[in-house]
Amino acid sequence: MKSAIGVNLVPTLLLISQHSPESCWLFNEEAKKVHLNLVNKLEELLKKYGIRLLGCWFALSEHTMYEVYDVPNFEAFQKMSMEPEIAAWSSFNTMEIKLVSPLEDVMRILKQSQ
Ligand SMILES: [Zn+2]
Repeated sequence: MKSAIGVNLVPTLLLISQHSPESCWLFNEEAKKVHLNLVNKLEELLKKYGIRLLGCWFALSEHTMYEVYDVPNFEAFQKMSMEPEIAAWSSFNTMEIKLVSPLEDVMRILKQSQ
């Protein structure tokens, strides 16, 4: 859905999550189990809340993950975060969430502000 000035009305979120080397799923068995549980459930959760995972990148040596989501609204994202598999995952990870815009929307706003 687009607004009157043509920008995307579906919020896009950048999630930056990080864990300590001690709680890395590469070395920590409990963390590995929790991460595998989430991987197996994630598609179902995304569908349940109408959320699209646009991309996901790992910086393995920094124990940091970058994920980009299209969400119907913030409430849906918050509710999904409280699902048991994600709540368990977040006990190993800190999260930073940023509202981001696609470049095409930013360019449109820039051109309209002339
Ligand atoms: Zn790690």
